[in-house]
Amino acid sequence: MKNKYLFVLMMLVCITIAGLGLTTAYEKQQDLAGTDDLKIVTSFYPMYIAAMNVIGDADGVQLENLSEPQTGCLHDYQLTPEDMKLLSTADVFVVNGGGIETFLADVAEEYPELTIIYASAGLELYEGNPHVWMNPELYAKQVHTIAHELSEVEVVEEELAAAFENNAHNYIAQIDVLVQQIVSLKGDTEGEPILSFHEAYGYVANAFGMTIVGEMDLDEERQISAGEVADMIQLIEEHDVELIFAEELYGKSMGDTIQAEVDAEVLYLDPITRGEYEATAYLKAMQNNIDLIHDAFHDHAGDSDHEHQ
Ligand SMILES: [Zn+2]
Repeated sequence: MKNKYLFVLMMLVCITIAGLGLTTAYEKQQDLAGTDDLKIVTSFYPMYIAAMNVIGDADGVQLENLSEPQTGCLHDYQLTPEDMKLLSTADVFVVNGGGIETFLADVAEEYPELTIIYASAGLELYEGNPHVWMNPELYAKQVHTIAHELSEVEVVEEELAAAFENNAHNYIAQIDVLVQQIVSLKGDTEGEPILSFHEAYGYVANAFGMTIVGEMDLDEERQISAGEVADMIQLIEEHDVELIFAEELYGKSMGDTIQAEVDAEVLYLDPITRGEYEATAYLKAMQNNIDLIHDAFHDHAGDSDHEHQ
C-alpha cells in the first residue's frame, strides 16, 4: 500500500519534471525562431542614442526605439499595440526614468520578466525634473549606468560586456569634451538669470551655473494667454533677464512675442528629444547648444569675438 503511494508520487514528480523540461525547451524554441541576438529596446530618442554608442559595432545585438514617430518629450505618451509587441520580443528595456515614462507600471505588469534599466538611477533630479540628459555631465553618468547594467544582464557574455564598457568609456571621453567647454564658459555664465520655455533647459542652466528665474513648459502646441506673456515680461524686467532658452518647434511664437516687447535674446536650443538616428547626434546637438550660448556671451562685447578664442 505504502509503496503504491510512493510510486504514484514518483510518477507525479517525473511528470512535473518532464513538463518543466518541455516548457523550457519550448521557450528556447521561441527565442530561436526570431534570433539569438540580444534585443535592446529604448524608450525614446536620447536613450536610443546613448544605447547606440554603448553597443557600438558589437555583434549579436539589436537595438530598437519604442516611441516613434513622436514629436516631443515622452510625457503622457501612451504605448501603442506595436510598442507592446516590440517589448514582448525584448531582453532589455532602457529607459530614462525619473517619471518621464509614465507607462512603466504597465510594462512591468505586462512583462514581469523584462529587464528594465533606469539610466537615471542614482542621479539626483533637479526639482523632480527628469530631463537629465540635457546636462552632459549627467548624461555621461547615464551612459555609464546603461553600459554597466547591460553588462550585468544574465544573457550578456563576458566579451560583450567588455565591449559595452569599453564603448561607453570612449563615448564618455567625447562627452567630457563638452563638459570641459561648459566649465571654461562658466566664468561668463555663472549666475546669469535665465527664462526657460522648456523644462529640459533647467539642466542646461544648471550645467552653466545659471539661475532660472522663470519657466514655461512649452513642449507641445498650445495657446499662450496674454496673462502668461505679461508675467514673463514682468520677470524679465524684474531680474534683468538678457537670455531666454526656448525650443524652435513649440517656443518660436512665444519667443517672437517676447522679443518684440523686450530687449532679451532668445536662444533656440535643442532639447535632443528627436533627430537623426546617428551615434554622433547627441554630441553634435549639444555642441550646437554650447556654441549658441558661447556666442550669446561673446558677441555682446563687440563686432569681433576674435579676442575670445
Ligand atoms: Zn519634457
